[in-house]
Amino acid sequence: PSFSDYLRQHIRTVPDWPAPGVQFRDITPLLQDPQVFRVLIDAFVQRYMQRDLRPDAVAGLDARGFILGAVVAYELGVGFVPIRKKGKLPFTTVEETYELEYGSATVELHTDAVQAGDRVLLIDDLIATGGTMMAGKKLLEKLGAQVVEGACIVDLPELGGSARLRQAGLRLYTLVDFA
Ligand code: 5GP
Repeated sequence: PSFSDYLRQHIRTVPDWPAPGVQFRDITPLLQDPQVFRVLIDAFVQRYMQRDLRPDAVAGLDARGFILGAVVAYELGVGFVPIRKKGKLPFTTVEETYELEYGSATVELHTDAVQAGDRVLLIDDLIATGGTMMAGKKLLEKLGAQVVEGACIVDLPELGGSARLRQAGLRLYTLVDFA
C-alpha cells in the first residue's frame, strides 16, 4: 500500500462520537504501534529537516498536537511551544477566539513563546473546518512569528478547512485524506 494507505489502516473511525452523526477519526492506534509511530514521526522530521523548511520552533495545538509536536521538535533539535485551550497557561498570553458549530472556542499562547521573526512549524493531528489551525496561525502572527507550514496527519477536505487555510496563505502538509 502507499504510505498514506498504510497510515489510514491504522486510524480508527468511531461513529457517532462525540455527537450523533460525527465520524471521529481516532489516531490513537497510530501512536500505540511503535513501528507506525516511528514512521509517522519520521515523515514529519524528514520534511522539516530540509534546509528551506527547517523551523526555529514547533508549536503544537491542544491536545494531540502536543504529542506529535513535542517529538518532532525534539528530533529537529528545536524548542516546543504549546497552544492551549483558554485557562491553562499560567503566564501572560495572547488569545484568539473562533467559531465552532455550536458556540466558540478560545486558544492561548504565552507571549514569550516565540520571538518576532521566528519561523514556526504549526502541528496538529487533524484539520476539519480549519478553525483551530487558523487560530494557531493568528496567535503566532500576533507575536510577529511566521508560520512556515501547518502539518497534520489527517485532512478532511470535504469540510473545506484545508482549502480555507491555503486561501489564507498557509502552506499545509497532510498525510492522509478521509472523504
Ligand atoms: P477544526 O478546528 O479544523 O474544525 O477541528 C480540528 C480540531 O479538532 C483538531 O484540534 C482536532 O484534534 C480536533 N478534531 C475534530 N474532529 C476530529 C476527528 O475526527 N478526529 C480527531 N482525531 N480530531 C478531531
